[in-house]
Amino acid sequence: MNENEYAIGLDLGGTKILAGLVDSEGRVVSQKQLPTSSEDGEKAVISRVLAAIEAVMLEVSVDRNQIRGVGIASAGVIDSAKKEVIFASNLGWRDVPIGNLIQERFDLPASLMNDANASAVAEWMWGAGKGTQNMIYVTVSTGVGAGIICNGRLLLGHDGSAGEFGHISIDWNGPICSCGNRGCLENYASGTAIENVARARMVSKESSLSGSLSEGESLTAKQIGEAALQGDPFSIDILKQAGFYLGIGATSLIHLFNPEMIVFGGGVMNAAPVILEEIEKSLKERCIPGLASQVRVELNQLGIESGVMGAAGLLFSEERKG
Ligand SMILES: [Zn+2]
Repeated sequence: MNENEYAIGLDLGGTKILAGLVDSEGRVVSQKQLPTSSEDGEKAVISRVLAAIEAVMLEVSVDRNQIRGVGIASAGVIDSAKKEVIFASNLGWRDVPIGNLIQERFDLPASLMNDANASAVAEWMWGAGKGTQNMIYVTVSTGVGAGIICNGRLLLGHDGSAGEFGHISIDWNGPICSCGNRGCLENYASGTAIENVARARMVSKESSLSGSLSEGESLTAKQIGEAALQGDPFSIDILKQAGFYLGIGATSLIHLFNPEMIVFGGGVMNAAPVILEEIEKSLKERCIPGLASQVRVELNQLGIESGVMGAAGLLFSEERKG
C-alpha cells in the first residue's frame, strides 16, 4: 500500500451527511458536513451527498489516482452487492442506487455498508480494537446494532446485513418488535427502550427528575444518562437494567463468535461509568467461563467521525488483503 493513498468516507445519517477524505493511517484530512434535511426529498439529499464528496476532494490537493474510492456508510437496510439503500426510514429512501450514482459521477469505485459495520471497521483499524483479529463493535443508541470482525475481516453475510444484534430475541414471549419477531434485545436495551421504561415508571413511581418536566413531556435517554452520572438512583436503576439485558445479548455474541474484545459505543454509552460494568457482570454470570475470561469489554475510542473513517477504511483493508 502506498502511504500517500486516500479514500473518501461518507456517513449518511438522518440528521447529517458527513464526508471525509481519509488517509491510510485513518487521519481525516478534510471533511464536509451538510444537513440531510430528508424532508426536501430524495433528489435534494442525493445532490447534497455529491456536493459533500466534491467539497472534500477540492479542499486538499490530492491527485485523483491517489484516491482508492468512496466508502458509504448508511443507516437502514442496504444491499452491499447492488450498492443500494433498500429502505431507510430516517432518509425516506426506498431502493436508491446511491453507490452507482456516486461511481458514475466521480468515476471512482464505491462501496456501501451499514453504519454499525463502518464504525466497527474504524474501531478495529484505528480505535479500541486495534491489533485484534476477532472483535465485535456494539452500538447502543436509538436502536442497537453491531459490526462483527471475524478472523481479521468484516463479516458481511449474504447481502451485507450481518450483525443485526438488536433483533436477536432474548424473550420468545416478549413484545412484538418492529421487525416482526418477539422480545428483541432492542426493545429492552436501546435509547428508545430506556425512554419507554422511564415513562412507565414515572407514572407509578415519583422520580426527582419529574419536576424538571412540563405536562406531557417525557425524559430522553440523554437526560436519563446525564442524571445517572450525577447519581440519580431512578436513572441509575434504568440504565443498569439496560446493561443487564445487553450482557444477556453479548453472551450469545461470545458463544457464537469467540471474540477477543467487545467494544460498546453509541449515545447511550455516554453513561458508560454506570452501564459498562453492569454489561460485564451480566455476561460473565452467563457465559461459558473459559470464553468469558478471554473477552475484554471496552468503550469505543473514536468519535462522530468513526462512520466516515470505517467506510473509507474498508477500502484500505480490502487492499491490504490483496
Ligand atoms: Zn426485532
